[in-house]
Amino acid sequence: MNSQSNQRIAEALRTAAQQHSLERLEAQWLLLYILGRPAHDRTWLLTHDTDTLDAATLAAFTACCQRRANGEPLAYITGYKEFFGLNLHVDARVLDPRADTETLVDWGLAVMADWPRPRVLDLGTGSGAIALALAHTRPDAQVSAVDASGNALTVAQANADRLGLRVQWLRGDWLHAQHTHSYDLIVSNPPYIPSADPHLAALTHEPLNALASGVDGLDDIRQIIQQAPAHLQPGGWLLLEHGYDQAEAVHSLLVAQGFTAVQHRLDLAGITRCTGGQLSTAWATVK
Ligand code: GLN
Repeated sequence: MNSQSNQRIAEALRTAAQQHSLERLEAQWLLLYILGRPAHDRTWLLTHDTDTLDAATLAAFTACCQRRANGEPLAYITGYKEFFGLNLHVDARVLDPRADTETLVDWGLAVMADWPRPRVLDLGTGSGAIALALAHTRPDAQVSAVDASGNALTVAQANADRLGLRVQWLRGDWLHAQHTHSYDLIVSNPPYIPSADPHLAALTHEPLNALASGVDGLDDIRQIIQQAPAHLQPGGWLLLEHGYDQAEAVHSLLVAQGFTAVQHRLDLAGITRCTGGQLSTAWATVK
């Protein structure tokens, strides 16, 4: 039996799974991170499973496993998250971008597929994930992004600089951040969890103001839907991510605000995760 300070890779991974209840894949990612190897290098771990880890490496790995076992997102521990093929730096200043949000990006790209030089706004950008994914895929788009948190904008701006992408970052409260612009497309993954939802207890490492939104979770979505028409071109689209059980409510709010062609998109788990609508081309004249 190896001592605490001297374990082989296979053993260290087994211990992580048993003592910290970590999934094997996550334990592998954490160990690769500690060893300074890329996350896709899992075959390296398998072919080196009898290599011995020195005490310092093992201690660093164990510390990471403990943080993960405490519910901290993997992305905060490693400091990055892959989103829509982009390597984003993330930390506790921003929401950990979810793969499900790629649904919103796919939808936004489809909506603007035939528009040259579309003007796009991402509300509540956090790490910049959505705005940067859109700017990367559509270099001709003029992408702006808003966040109320200056800390989040610092993270987003650094991601843009590192990736060499151009986005206009604006600080403010939803559409109060700017007054003059009119967009072809507004996208948002706002906070949408009800403030008393027990699910929040598992998300304590992430900024609460990026997650929770009033008693029914719809406070911010209501504001965005109400403010959006004044900032959309006639015929422009508003696409929103929302909670697993909010599609009907968001649908009704959009219809009540005069949006047409209201429709939904499913996330990777098949849950109705996004709802959006088009501002009627006649909106400018009927308002
Ligand atoms: N989808 C995230 C979750 O339920 C929440 C993201 C958000 O509120 N925008 O964990």
